[in-house]
Amino acid sequence: MNPSLTDPFGRNIEYVRLSVTDRCDLRCFYCMPEGFKDFEEPDHWLTFDEIERVIRVFSELGVRRVRLTGGEPLVRKNILDLAHSLSALPGVDDLSLSTNATRMDKYATELYQSGIKRINASLDSLNPDTFKQITKGKLDKVINGLMAAKAAGFNPIKINMVVMKGINDHEVEDMVEFCIEHDFTLRFIETMPMGDTGRNASDQFISLQTIEQRLGQRYELIPGMMPGGGPARYVQVAGSELRIGFITPISQHFCETCNRVRLSVDGTLYMCLGQDDKYELRPHLRAGITDDELRQHIINAISTKPSHHEFNEKPGQVVRFMSMTGG
Ligand code: SAM
Ligand code: SF4
Repeated sequence: MNPSLTDPFGRNIEYVRLSVTDRCDLRCFYCMPEGFKDFEEPDHWLTFDEIERVIRVFSELGVRRVRLTGGEPLVRKNILDLAHSLSALPGVDDLSLSTNATRMDKYATELYQSGIKRINASLDSLNPDTFKQITKGKLDKVINGLMAAKAAGFNPIKINMVVMKGINDHEVEDMVEFCIEHDFTLRFIETMPMGDTGRNASDQFISLQTIEQRLGQRYELIPGMMPGGGPARYVQVAGSELRIGFITPISQHFCETCNRVRLSVDGTLYMCLGQDDKYELRPHLRAGITDDELRQHIINAISTKPSHHEFNEKPGQVVRFMSMTGG
């Protein structure tokens, strides 16, 4: 029988989201405060050897999907080396990346060769001014990065758009057309009250149920499927290849099917985005534990995974920004 990690609610944990840095070259206002400097000490960053070890032990316990995230993973030095070593782990059969795509034009070909075959890229607006207002960055860099990723062969490329009332909600149809044109998958995301940044964005919260109804008036939406192991519910635009995913942690939570934990850059395992439950692995790793002991720490951590987030009941609870946990 294959090994498996099961939490107290019978959910099989087969997915680790691995934050390789809490730093970023953008400042999306719902994620990281503009002048933020309080980053994790480099001494506290897990080394690539430590990360590889933790992921190997996770894979021996049945985890087969790993996503590099952050912060912006492509700002971590020598990230290609880590991608190579993780993709060589026999138990990991799905290695993916979440990125803001600003550096993709530089990295696309080598990343693809390193073993990452699919990416998710954030893109909240196709208007350069709105893009700058949201991220403080330049839209053309991101578009160039996406085109480089497509040319390098990444498939699927999933575009993540956080939909915000009065900021970019009028652009969802444009984003649909853009994704049809370029053969991307599109996912809409609801704002989550993570840290003060996320809570400030709650004023712009719009339920994706509203967006789906609006799109239904313009397009024929039929039930769709998409491989990936995530929480998005998909529809397909009839007459096209486009799949649209709705990620609705607030209006319709999906915690009963949660299959993941998050490992932050300092070696802390977070059991749930919307809860404070955590388990620090770094002190144990640096105290020289054996693989068997590491395995037991991971099992102990999973035994503390809460049943569901409390974004609605306790919106002030989570003080970490998304970039600190690894979105
Ligand atoms: N830098 C990469 C990127 O932007 O894709 C990876 C890390 S980012 C934290 C991962 C995802 O989290 C992005 O799609 C981003 O839009 C989303 N995100 C960050 N803060 C959020 C919030 N408060 N509510 C909803 N989504 C958020
Ligand atoms: Fe950076 Fe991604 Fe957060 Fe934007 S959402 S600030 S790109 S980590």
